[in-house]
Amino acid sequence: MTQSLEEFARASGVRYFMISYTDLFGVQRAKLVPAQSIAMMQDDGAGFAGFASWLDLTPAHPDMLAVPQAQAAIQLPWKPEVAWVPAECVMAGETVAQLPRTVLARQIAAAEAAGLRIKTGVEAEFFLMTRDGLALSDPYDTAEKPCYDQQALMRRYDVIAEICDYMLALGWNPYQSDHEDANGQFEMNWDFADAMVTADRHSFFKFMVKSVAEKHGLRATFMPKPVAGLTGNGCHAHISAWSLDGRENRFAGDGYGVGLTEAGFHFLGGIMAHAPAMAALTNPTVNSYKRINAPRTTSGATWAPNTVTWTANNRTHMVRVPGPGRFELRLPDGAANPYLLQAAIIAAGLDGVATRADPGPRLDIDMYADGHTVKDAPRLPLNLLDALRAFEADTTLTEALGAEFSAAYTRLKQGEWDSFVSHFSRWEREHTLDI
Ligand code: ADP
Ligand code: MG
Ligand code: MG
Ligand code: MG
Ligand code: MG
Repeated sequence: MTQSLEEFARASGVRYFMISYTDLFGVQRAKLVPAQSIAMMQDDGAGFAGFASWLDLTPAHPDMLAVPQAQAAIQLPWKPEVAWVPAECVMAGETVAQLPRTVLARQIAAAEAAGLRIKTGVEAEFFLMTRDGLALSDPYDTAEKPCYDQQALMRRYDVIAEICDYMLALGWNPYQSDHEDANGQFEMNWDFADAMVTADRHSFFKFMVKSVAEKHGLRATFMPKPVAGLTGNGCHAHISAWSLDGRENRFAGDGYGVGLTEAGFHFLGGIMAHAPAMAALTNPTVNSYKRINAPRTTSGATWAPNTVTWTANNRTHMVRVPGPGRFELRLPDGAANPYLLQAAIIAAGLDGVATRADPGPRLDIDMYADGHTVKDAPRLPLNLLDALRAFEADTTLTEALGAEFSAAYTRLKQGEWDSFVSHFSRWEREHTLDI
């Protein structure tokens, strides 16, 4: 049942719709459409020149039409006369297959065909910086172990409570917010839901956090490692799979010493098998690789993984099984595209279920202190190029995600890497000038 956006506007007092799509680099692109024109746009879509965003299209391609997905509309709590509506795109009558939201929709359909309804939650950490993004916004937030710092949390109460109030009003059931492990860093948690609902909310959350921070004269960043030496912005993903009616958690059992079913165990096996390739999506920027494989931070731990290992309730591995019926992937960072993050997890997990993949031994050691004692633990990619090569080499994953998408993504990200390495750095001069 598709609701009429025109009626939605009348009932809610919305004056403008923000028809929005997320491109391959995770950037949200929008057109603002007055309510009186929304009926036409809901049928035909809003026109965009695809080349002007990161979609691997050329200037010669015909117009791309962004068709608003009305059931996912969210009224902006901080500007109720505007509603954000995520779109899926059509070009010359064909679905734009590489659009991240479409890539995810196809993975959700594949999971349903396998009898699984995927439910996920994300923990999108962020820093509050000064408006220019150059410094932490709170000069007094300097503790060596700043996690859960009550005083620093209260100095940002106006921002955090405003965002939490909005999530309460939207019915997301936010249940806690805290100061995180880096100076200037916060996390806000809301309830898990169907993968697409979580991906849309995750997108909207980033938009909302940035908007509210701006309102308060600040800059919010989800950048993976915005400050050298401090803990970075993770975006842990929690995953479970349910019966199609949503009643029974198909991962909840009593197996493997951690409360997983066979399906959960093999899904996890798929995540482990494809992790180095998945990193190209879960850790998609040059900066991402300063968060994983990182030296110890000033707080004492990075809280980010270095190896493809899994464990029970222990935060030093790539996957943690905190309790029965779900697992936590600690690999993704704040730069992960909300749709591609979920799509990568589902594609890798479904392959694991289909091939009955074995996740390998559960390791219960402190991986930061004793990782060297595990001789054969696979390492995560060391940089974006390494990850892109792993992604290209993993044809099971690239085919599962779709050939058009995988080719487009690899091409654009390779271009980003090339741009990075062609940049002359101060480090290079300092290390090479006198050779
Ligand atoms: P932690 O910091 O211990 O990793 P948080 O409470 O910050 O945990 O985040 C946990 C996330 O996992 C929340 O989004 C929560 O709703 C989600 N979650 C809890 N149970 C499940 C489940 N069965 N399936 C998917 N996500 C879940
Ligand atoms: Mg124009
Ligand atoms: Mg958390
Ligand atoms: Mg956290
Ligand atoms: Mg976590």
